[in-house]
Amino acid sequence: MPLPRTRGTALRHRLAELRGPDVPAKALDARALAALAANPGCRRRAILDGAGVNKTALASALGSPSAFGQSQFALTRGNAFEAKVKADGGAELLRLVHEKLDRAAEPPAHARVPELTATGPEGRTARTALALREAIEAPGEWTLLDHPMLALDVAGSPAFLEPDAVVVHPDGSWTVVEIKSFPMLDGSADPAKVGAAARQAAVYVLALEAVAARLESTPRVRDRVLLVCPKDFSNLPTASAVDVRKQRAVTARQLERLTRIEEIADTLPAGTCFSPELPAAELTAAVESVPATYAPECLSACELAFHCRARSLESGAVTSLGRSVRAELGGLTTVEDVLSAARGESGDPDDPAVAALRRAAQLRAEAVAGCR
Ligand code: SF4
Repeated sequence: MPLPRTRGTALRHRLAELRGPDVPAKALDARALAALAANPGCRRRAILDGAGVNKTALASALGSPSAFGQSQFALTRGNAFEAKVKADGGAELLRLVHEKLDRAAEPPAHARVPELTATGPEGRTARTALALREAIEAPGEWTLLDHPMLALDVAGSPAFLEPDAVVVHPDGSWTVVEIKSFPMLDGSADPAKVGAAARQAAVYVLALEAVAARLESTPRVRDRVLLVCPKDFSNLPTASAVDVRKQRAVTARQLERLTRIEEIADTLPAGTCFSPELPAAELTAAVESVPATYAPECLSACELAFHCRARSLESGAVTSLGRSVRAELGGLTTVEDVLSAARGESGDPDDPAVAALRRAAQLRAEAVAGCR
């Protein structure tokens, strides 16, 4: 929900201060918004993204450059595959949508593919909204929107998002299509990559829902998206329907939290600034003043991962061992606490985590003794 004007203006001013004088805001794209859902508890990422800080530049200035992002080779390969999927007016793409999501509808022998070019992101967003409205006024027809532009309100400012495609079904419902260049082997793909694609698609679903809410007929945005990938080791497209309800709910919650980033900003010391122009020591202190919840998943989702991992390892935090380990260890937050509890030097013996650690330590000691 957009912020009231005065509150929104004050927040934008505060976020500009955090970003640094004359540092332009880095626009959030769907990949960045989706990554928020990969680590929903991280206040550091929330404030940096909310303030539009360029985290790639920040990571370099901190001395831990990011290795995050797609290589040029992967981008070129992805673009070539997408062009193949959308060839002939999207005939193959529409066939896959029909087969995987809407077999009851008439097969898409002919489809409308409206022209979506316009000036600037605002113009393209308006053109997309118009095309979607026209599509639902043509019931019984399939419509393919190739690279539409959607806007999503993030912390009071619009983030412009560009899904690979949106399909309007003959019943007027809308489906998000994600085209990826990682392979689908025997009908299934790498779960981590599918998860990342699902989170990204969930952001588009939210943005489409915002468009739908403004239309009188409020068309249904389908919560199953179509993921299109190369089949096995070929360049032929295959597809799978992916349910993104969970990712949609997590991302919606995260975005709501982002619109309250003033709460995080209020906890920061006066004068805190994340400008990459600052000396490394000052910048490190600013970044460390915001709590982070590092997890190994950050390595594939956040530009600051190397910095946060180093800090997490330095402090012996169990979060660097992964979320599942952290959850198993309950209130034991450092490796030192864990070892001390296992040795019987600290910890409540009635705590199930402490009891399990002591039992594991005992079994290990017996096994080691048996090997001697
Ligand atoms: S790398 Fe750091 S800032 Fe980024 S999500 Fe992980 S803990 Fe948060």
